[in-house]
Amino acid sequence: MFNISPELKKILATIREFVREELIPLESAFFAEGFNALEPTLQRKRQMVQDLGLWLPQVPQEYGGLGLTLFEHGLVSQELGQTPIGHYAFNCQAPDAGNMEILMEHGTAAQKEQFLLPLLRGETRSCFSMTEPEHAGSNPTMMSTTAVHEGDSYIIDGHKWFTSSADGAAFAVVMAVTNPEAGRHARASQIIVPLDTLGFTLVRNISVMGEPGDGWASHAELRYDGVRVPRSNLLGKEGAGFAIAQERLGPGRIHHCMRWLGICERAFELTCRYAVNRVLAPGRTLADQQTIQNWVAENRAAINAARLMVLVTAKRIDEEGQYAARDDISLIKFHVAGVLQTVLDRALQVHGGLGMTDDTPIAYWFRHERAARIYDGPDEVHKWSVARRILGSYR
Ligand SMILES: Cc1cc2nc3c(=O)[nH]c(=O)nc-3n(C[C@H](O)[C@H](O)[C@H](O)COP(=O)(O)OP(=O)(O)OC[C@H]3O[C@@H](n4cnc5c(N)ncnc54)[C@H](O)[C@@H]3O)c2cc1C
Repeated sequence: MFNISPELKKILATIREFVREELIPLESAFFAEGFNALEPTLQRKRQMVQDLGLWLPQVPQEYGGLGLTLFEHGLVSQELGQTPIGHYAFNCQAPDAGNMEILMEHGTAAQKEQFLLPLLRGETRSCFSMTEPEHAGSNPTMMSTTAVHEGDSYIIDGHKWFTSSADGAAFAVVMAVTNPEAGRHARASQIIVPLDTLGFTLVRNISVMGEPGDGWASHAELRYDGVRVPRSNLLGKEGAGFAIAQERLGPGRIHHCMRWLGICERAFELTCRYAVNRVLAPGRTLADQQTIQNWVAENRAAINAARLMVLVTAKRIDEEGQYAARDDISLIKFHVAGVLQTVLDRALQVHGGLGMTDDTPIAYWFRHERAARIYDGPDEVHKWSVARRILGSYR
């Protein structure tokens, strides 16, 4: 059904081997010591990725990337998703990949020089600062953060949380209200804020499922108190904040869904290996139990079906644009997040006590990927928006 070129097959095979040989062996150090401790080693792996010519798979060639289509990058994302540090090693990790995309699309020449190029080279990291603790993030048009003109500057005041990867980032793309009188979707703008600007405070890395994390692997609460940035740091047009945010979400959801399917594949492999090797009684393994057999078959069907849905959606975005694919995008977002949760839960159960430890990546994903059903639009919001359109066509 899908044509995968020989070149892409070669890329996928090289990435698969790199993930197995170079990244999976680093996982235990990542779980035990955190991201920052591993960063020097990861930098060496990033250099190896550059030497292999596989850096920035999702970025157009004119910006130094591989120039893969969304469909092709989806397949890459699935390989990289098999380890929590895969995307970072190839510089296609959230939230940087989304910021690269909007900077390439909407950045001025000066913004590209100052913010985009160091990001593409892997010298800096960035974050995307939209959600606020005081408002329902599932309706981001409600927002208190403001950016007010003062001469050639914006003065930004606001309180944000769940800004992923703010710890150690060079800059944030901040969503702030620039015109409170405008319509709901034209009130806010995206403004680039270097995080060494006076008035910016990282209040804390929020403890998520018992782990505050660090560096790229963290989610921060932030304050912007009278933060002054030049008006030239506006991304795109004033009032276009939501339109630009929407743009990053379509491709971003393909990246996430294929990453989740990579996680599913790894959890599936671990499940099967453990099941055939775990002896329950002489001559009888876990794999001989029908419950486990059912889970293996059901998981396989669910993962394969989910992958088809995502790849069809990616093709549709590539060929028709994300507006045409908006229902498919919502469907895959909640459906694949649900498959992920089921596959991880079963993998953990099959591993018994071992599943609760950090001796496999299952527990890490079980903790952190529960959020898949919440970020980039909670399940219910996607279901509501798809159902509304479907039912609308019957009214
Ligand atoms: C790990 C993680 C990383 C994140 N990273 C970022 C980031 O980098 N930058 C950023 O700006 N934000 C980020 N977020 C925030 C994320 O986008 C919000 O958590 C999300 O939009 C939901 O908003 P909320 O948490 O305020 O939940 P609320 O809006 O308060 O919703 C709470 C719950 O209500 C239910 N609900 C909501 N709307 C409806 C509805 N219409 N119908 C029925 N039920 C509904 C859902 O179950 C939802 O989970 C991240 C969140 C997490 C957990």
